[in-house]
Amino acid sequence: MKTTNTFDVIIVGAGVVGCSIAYHLTKAGYSVALIEQKHVGSGASGANFGMVQSNDVEIKHSIPMVLKSYKRFDTLEDELGMSIGFRRIASLRLLSSESQWMNSIERASILSKAGIPYEFIPPERVIEIEPAVSPDGLFGATYASYQGQANPFLLMWAFLRKANQQGLSLHTYTEVRKLLIQSGRIIGVETNQGTFYSGSIVLATAAWTRKLGEMIAHNWNIHTFRASAMVTERFSDLQINSIVTSADHIEMEINGPEDAELTVMVLSQTPEGNFLIAQADRPGEVLDGKISHVAPKAMSTIAIRFFPVLRKAKIIRTWTAPTTYTEDGMPLLGPVDDLKGLILAASFRSAIVNSPIAGEIVTQLIDKGYCDLIDISPFAPERTMTQADTVYRVKSSKSDENEMPD
Ligand SMILES: Cc1cc2nc3c(=O)[nH]c(=O)nc-3n(C[C@H](O)[C@H](O)[C@H](O)COP(=O)(O)OP(=O)(O)OC[C@H]3O[C@@H](n4cnc5c(N)ncnc54)[C@H](O)[C@@H]3O)c2cc1C
Repeated sequence: MKTTNTFDVIIVGAGVVGCSIAYHLTKAGYSVALIEQKHVGSGASGANFGMVQSNDVEIKHSIPMVLKSYKRFDTLEDELGMSIGFRRIASLRLLSSESQWMNSIERASILSKAGIPYEFIPPERVIEIEPAVSPDGLFGATYASYQGQANPFLLMWAFLRKANQQGLSLHTYTEVRKLLIQSGRIIGVETNQGTFYSGSIVLATAAWTRKLGEMIAHNWNIHTFRASAMVTERFSDLQINSIVTSADHIEMEINGPEDAELTVMVLSQTPEGNFLIAQADRPGEVLDGKISHVAPKAMSTIAIRFFPVLRKAKIIRTWTAPTTYTEDGMPLLGPVDDLKGLILAASFRSAIVNSPIAGEIVTQLIDKGYCDLIDISPFAPERTMTQADTVYRVKSSKSDENEMPD
């Protein structure tokens, strides 16, 4: 029997990944409910810089996925019928020592072979590209020209707007509290707004995925940390043309050595002139949105070190959001082994660039029961993970295992 609460597919989580999946599934003609515990973009998707990154890719298995998805941005605005603020923009990663470049050589070689330009440039060239960078202690930079940036709010809105036109049923402030199972298959979800039924449920729940897994005795291997950022007032007399990050990081204790913020510089300028500055990462599986008292100081310190001119900048807002990583740097993407009808689409290393293909892949899985766009077997949710060489992970601040992304 079909009731108003019965759908072909239920998606849990209205971040950029859930919104893309909603768009692709409704485009394919499915009846879809998108269920979100707060408002659209209330997770990490409303807190990020919209960088459409290919240089940050996990290099063993994820390159085909990122390349295919990156290409979608060429035509995404036409397809979605509105601007998502997309622009091509290069990315510079500032290096302070030769060993930092040595750590990137394998990545540079693999990316270049895959057609993703990624090269070393000396300090003089860095200053030519970005005159505001301080030359003090600068060894050089990695330069990646094949990058981009979109407005993450417009991107989500564009997916959702189309999905709505295609018949999406959106339920905000609706928290999934129980996953309903019958005879080894998923049949629906219980929420604070009633029960929804479907034989196909997609969890696009990022940092909350582990919590949902615990409801059905699954211990999915996703780790959470809180990433913080801030934005300055507009500058009319200073323009930075690239996304600039640092290989160096700094650490600042919050409540003692076991609770410290680990901060790299991630900096870009909006088309309106504001500087977006990140990223202070605080380890821990906490899902709240409270920024620590040291995060703004840590981010300012590292930004001013590389861009002394920002000393006069006025910060107008700071924020934080729970975000995720996996030990092997790959997402959990695909059907859950022992529970028919349940699909995970969580913990993408660069969710913005991967959002279009995440929607395509999940739609294929629902449509055909398999995906032939790319090989998704390495992303199987129940896989045993081995540590990747370069992985975005935040351990205790005193551990020398800390490794920051490109
Ligand atoms: C400061 C900062 C800068 C970043 N910069 C970039 C960048 O430039 N480029 C990039 O690619 N990535 C960036 N990231 C990471 C990126 O934001 C995330 O990877 C991405 O937003 C994840 O998208 P998502 O849709 O998977 O998850 P989320 O946006 O976190 O969405 C998950 C949603 O699920 C909902 N949910 C969870 N549990 C339930 C439940 N029980 N019931 C109903 N709903 C539920 C949540 O409320 C949430 O809205 C950045 C992150 C931060 C914090």
